[in-house]
Amino acid sequence: MRAYAKINLDKLIDNVKKVSDIVSKEKIMAVVKANAYGHGDIQVVKKLIEFGIRTFAVATFLEAKRLSEKYKEIDILILGEIEKNQFKEIENTNILISISNIQDLKYIQECGLKNRVHLKLDTGMNRLGFLASEIEEAKKYIGKINIEGIFTHLSSVESDEEFTKKQIDIFLEATKDLKIKKHILNSAGIKRYECYLDYVRLGIDMYTDVMSLYTKVVHIHSIKKGEKVGYDGTFVAKKDTKIATVSIGYADGYKRGFSNKVEVEINSRKYKQVGNVCMDLMMVEVDDNVKVGDIVTLFKNNKELMALAKIADTITYEIFTSISLRVDRIYE
Ligand code: PLP
Repeated sequence: MRAYAKINLDKLIDNVKKVSDIVSKEKIMAVVKANAYGHGDIQVVKKLIEFGIRTFAVATFLEAKRLSEKYKEIDILILGEIEKNQFKEIENTNILISISNIQDLKYIQECGLKNRVHLKLDTGMNRLGFLASEIEEAKKYIGKINIEGIFTHLSSVESDEEFTKKQIDIFLEATKDLKIKKHILNSAGIKRYECYLDYVRLGIDMYTDVMSLYTKVVHIHSIKKGEKVGYDGTFVAKKDTKIATVSIGYADGYKRGFSNKVEVEINSRKYKQVGNVCMDLMMVEVDDNVKVGDIVTLFKNNKELMALAKIADTITYEIFTSISLRVDRIYE
């Protein structure tokens, strides 16, 4: 095995339990889009079903279809858009759809689609959804088609409290006369607000400290002071030293932006990654304690993951979802 991610599913359940203790299992909509944030959707959903979660959210039609074929006893809401030619394919399945415009509601009525629908309301994210001014028109379809719920998405929970409260207020006002299921909160929202309503959409906080990432040393050689390492020679040895080549690269999701900026751990010691990260391999400056076959730890907890994300000027979500399919997932 070359690069591999260990996935601790018991930790996943611990994380979910922290939320279900507050809001109840029934109100958790587990967000498992993008292959469960890179953790493996089939395995994550199986574990969550065993724990008693029954409602899931994904982003795309194909993500929903894949889970729907495997798990019949759950509800799977597609949060993103769905194309009209896909409506036929979801008939008589456990897939629910989000609708953001009147044309689609009209079409659903015309074609008699029975799947449950959640209306998406745009309260300030300006991405998808009905505007509050359009919602009266959308409400007319309640009763005509199978509208089960309505939701909105918060854009700035961690950066703008005033704006977030405004989003929540807009949603609650626009939906106050509706007797359908309602949901607003994502992970950051759950920690700060109590408007759990009928569901909370739990994503990133479910995955905290669940994944760790490893690879192996596949080659070691010595270089002289002044020699360069890797494409474009972006590392120049300041002394005679040893270079270990390890089996992970940007095609595995280990970002090229990490080049010459990160440390990895081998045998409980930290070593500097050197030279540009290649597609399948990268190099590390090591000492005599390192040998071929040694395990290299890229990150083993959320603190290290966050530090990596910061270095690449991104967020942990992007690191997780970039870990590609050729990285083996080992479930424990
Ligand atoms: N709801 C929607 C509409 C989303 O797009 C997402 C994730 O991006 C979530 C909920 C889950 O968010 P988080 O992972 O921050 O909990």
